[in-house]
Amino acid sequence: MTAAARLPELVPPPAELPARVAALRAEVRAFLAAERAAGSWTPRADVWLSGWDERFSAELGRRGWLGMTIPVEYGGRGASPLDRYVVTEELLAAGAPVAAHWIADRQIAPSLMRFGTEAQRRRYLPGIAAGTVFFGIGMSEPDAGSDLAAVRTRADRVDGGWELTGTKVWTSGAHHAHAFFALARSAPRDEANRHAGLSQFILELDSPGVQIRPIPLLTGAHHFNEVVFDHVFVPDELVLGEVGAGWRQVTSELAFERSGPERFLSTFPLLTAMIGELAGRPGVEREVGGLVTRLWALRRMSLAIAGALESGAAPELAAAVVKDLGTRYENEVVDAARLLVGTPPDPGAADGFARLLADAVLHAPGFTLRGGTNEVLRGIVARGLGLR
Ligand SMILES: Cc1cc2nc3c(=O)[nH]c(=O)nc-3n(C[C@H](O)[C@H](O)[C@H](O)COP(=O)(O)OP(=O)(O)OC[C@H]3O[C@@H](n4cnc5c(N)ncnc54)[C@H](O)[C@@H]3O)c2cc1C
Repeated sequence: MTAAARLPELVPPPAELPARVAALRAEVRAFLAAERAAGSWTPRADVWLSGWDERFSAELGRRGWLGMTIPVEYGGRGASPLDRYVVTEELLAAGAPVAAHWIADRQIAPSLMRFGTEAQRRRYLPGIAAGTVFFGIGMSEPDAGSDLAAVRTRADRVDGGWELTGTKVWTSGAHHAHAFFALARSAPRDEANRHAGLSQFILELDSPGVQIRPIPLLTGAHHFNEVVFDHVFVPDELVLGEVGAGWRQVTSELAFERSGPERFLSTFPLLTAMIGELAGRPGVEREVGGLVTRLWALRRMSLAIAGALESGAAPELAAAVVKDLGTRYENEVVDAARLLVGTPPDPGAADGFARLLADAVLHAPGFTLRGGTNEVLRGIVARGLGLR
């Protein structure tokens, strides 16, 4: 056997979209065109972080385009990840305001299906599918970002449940969300096994003892928060999965968080606006052509992951590869738009290229950080290849 033959498969085999999704895609496009014509929203870059619009989310829910993979008995459609993929990529490509439901639809619903109790599924899934129940992500802490196992939020056993004390940080959307899964230490840290003794709790953000403090961006915009808990009571029925199995669960959640098309489409509305601005301009074919062909390759890889999810796999390694390549690509779209077009960014513009560029420039530093930094992802890839 050659050395190459022993390498693990980095990306699953290509997945083809089934013929049935063409009709779904056409329906979503027609809906988006009608919304745009009605002036309901303006396309933006990085909409899955910043485009919070509860009316829009509820409208998607009404049409059956949220929680698509949730079984019908919990309010979903029982559709495949490939159907969901088509809806998701159309929404992102249009720059539609999807932030309100994004986290709940992407990772909370599948985690509840994998680890939640029957009562938890019935409590949250119908609202997630309807686009009326919103979640954040309660993982990062001031000294536990890349090194997530270093979380210090404490979960102490009390009568009928647990008491959580600690601080989460960079919590996108917590000021609007109903709840998040808090990763906390439910047993003392064991240096020999740092991943042991962690648990996940469904923390409803209006619980007594929770304080949500804004962390404004340099522009003053408010997306992130610091969330402080002081002896917050979480009843036993809101423990997610198994006490002590938090690390395994959170890793599975991260596979959903890292694997979607939002990891290379955050700047797609800017790419299309840039192509519009450059129409007829000579000498840019090579750069623009290069960006478009790479987009195509990224999409093929990302679709392969959606295909693997459909067959029940958890492709962490492939998700790390696509997220690393995809988020660097997003930054290169921003660089190309600045260098090739020559129109300065304008954060005050109502819409158009200059506004899309301004939003993309301001959000770009986060592309390769959120959901796990690229350095950390490369460590995961190296481990998957048996190099560390
Ligand atoms: C836009 C945005 C939204 C976010 N939303 C959320 C959210 O909703 N919920 C949530 O829980 N978190 C959220 N985060 C936090 C995000 O997950 C962390 O920022 C990220 O995991 C990095 O952690 P850190 O900021 O503590 O950086 P650190 O871990 O301190 O890393 C600092 C630098 O050191 C490098 N580094 C660290 N360890 C290693 C290593 N072992 N090998 C090589 N290099 C290393 C990193 O790559 C990075 O460049 C968000 C972040 C951003 C930017």
